Amino acid sequence: MGDVRRDGQEAQDGQDRQGGQGGQDAGREHDGLAPGEREAVATELLAESERLRLEIDAAEEAEAQLRADCALDAADAGAENVSREQLRDRSAEAQVRLDRTVAALGRLREGTFGLCTDCSRPLGRERLLAVPTAALCLACRRRREAAAGSHSRGGG
Ligand SMILES: [Zn+2]
Repeated sequence: MGDVRRDGQEAQDGQDRQGGQGGQDAGREHDGLAPGEREAVATELLAESERLRLEIDAAEEAEAQLRADCALDAADAGAENVSREQLRDRSAEAQVRLDRTVAALGRLREGTFGLCTDCSRPLGRERLLAVPTAALCLACRRRREAAAGSHSRGGG
């Protein structure tokens, strides 16, 4: 039983994925981006997701470090707590952006990039170039913001 076998090996026995990889869908994009532009957006999104992962890791590491320090040095806990909260906020914010970035990459792969996830209308080339992670058209975004704003006001 010395063999190291990975469960993933079984997957290789599976049949080839069906469906054509014809790649003739090039004319069907909804995003209005030129192929080069879409590639640039994809590259940017990938780089952004890497950067955010590192940022989250760093923030969590620093936070864990501070927690350890706090345990040793209870007297300074008050001061430390502030930066721990800041670190947690930063990591949470980065996580939200990472989720958006990963979702945008997924839409690129599925071919739904550039469509509003609510009403499926095209977001428009300029908006995509300005905000590649945008998932909602402006109308839907405003509607959501209005709903969220009236729901909970004065949150942090
Ligand atoms: Zn919409």
